Amino acid sequence: MNIDNITVDKNTKDHVVYQRTLKSAISCDGVGLHSGESVRLSLKPALPGAGIIFKRTDVNEEQSIIPARWDCVVDTRMCTVIANEHGVRVGTVEHLMAALAGCGLDNVVVEVSGPEVPVMDGSSGPFVFLIECAGVVDQDQPRRVIRVLKTILVEEGGAQASLSPDHGFSLDVQVHFEGTAVSQQALHVGMKNGSFCKELARARTFGFLNEVEALQAAGLGKGGSLDNAIIVDGLEIINKDGLRFDDEFVRHKMLDAVGDLFLAGGAIMGKFSGKRSGHALNNALLHALFADDNAWCYDELRGDAVNVAIDGGIFAESMDAVSAA
Ligand SMILES: [Zn+2]
Repeated sequence: MNIDNITVDKNTKDHVVYQRTLKSAISCDGVGLHSGESVRLSLKPALPGAGIIFKRTDVNEEQSIIPARWDCVVDTRMCTVIANEHGVRVGTVEHLMAALAGCGLDNVVVEVSGPEVPVMDGSSGPFVFLIECAGVVDQDQPRRVIRVLKTILVEEGGAQASLSPDHGFSLDVQVHFEGTAVSQQALHVGMKNGSFCKELARARTFGFLNEVEALQAAGLGKGGSLDNAIIVDGLEIINKDGLRFDDEFVRHKMLDAVGDLFLAGGAIMGKFSGKRSGHALNNALLHALFADDNAWCYDELRGDAVNVAIDGGIFAESMDAVSAA
């Protein structure tokens, strides 16, 4: 699949970005980062307007649905955890949510056979690959985006996260872990024309050796290994193959933000800035945004706006082509 192609037609003034779902269902198996248990993940097509919906296949059908929404987030300490009113939870949703956002999907049912999305290789790359294998289709309704109308800023300690008005979705992220191999890294990425797949999707999660040891002593991180995380020990990187990007750490923080912000319930049209930010601040930012009716509005992408639509670079087939097949 060629991810360098641009899927929007710049010559069509009244072109509309349509909602997208998967062309077919697809599954994979993996382990939960914290539980260490094996999990089956299935991604299935969903109707226009459905959004991203998680479904636990190991609990009662009536209690199994968890909408992927900012106001369902119940824990952000190690990863982003969502839950429904019955207390049924799914953890580590952010890397999958990032892949769904980065591939421009609007409507997907995510079935999980346990309390955690499998960690795979610690990045969004394997999920992007699954989506590419399943294919994507345009649906017959315009995509509804969330347009940021004024700057919203949240801060805690020395950390900051903000959203400001912008034509498309872009991110400006800084990480600071002085005295370690991570050190200081900063990056700006505009989410268009396949940039998520090219620039961010393969960046892995990371942890510090002393923290990993403490986590495992506390019975967490049981599925964690050098196969699904970069482990930093002071100025050293333990993984023998090193890094996938020189600045893989800031790219992963950006990937996390893409996933966490997709819990807004749609693609955000605005600029995200994060300084030492993480899952908790990303979620606090969405709470602050939606608490202010003057800070955002729903919108559709037409005309020139189409050129800055989030796009994973995966060509969507029209529904006509699918029904004819
Ligand atoms: Zn992450």
